[in-house]
Amino acid sequence: MSSILSDDSLASGRSSQIARDHARPPREGEPTHKGKNLMFYCKYCPDFGAQNTSNFKNHLQSKHQIITKTSRAVNIPSNLALQNLYDQALITNRTLDLDT
Ligand SMILES: [Zn+2]
Repeated sequence: MSSILSDDSLASGRSSQIARDHARPPREGEPTHKGKNLMFYCKYCPDFGAQNTSNFKNHLQSKHQIITKTSRAVNIPSNLALQNLYDQALITNRTLDLDT
């Protein structure tokens, strides 16, 4: 049973695209692959190469403060927002009542 996909291959796609955005093509003499793995060379460093996206993303994050995690949409607690609107409406009504 060697055909089980690793997390890395499952996560490829979007996350490897992000890694590619910050990678440069290999220079002359630099291997494009190490074994089966595609090499990622850092755009910003003279000679940093990573054998997989995880290593490369760790490098981007620690050396260049580039966060490569795919961010999820922030969930605004809608109940709270509605409650605030409701409170404001109550306050407005009350002041209106006082004015008349
Ligand atoms: Zn770098």
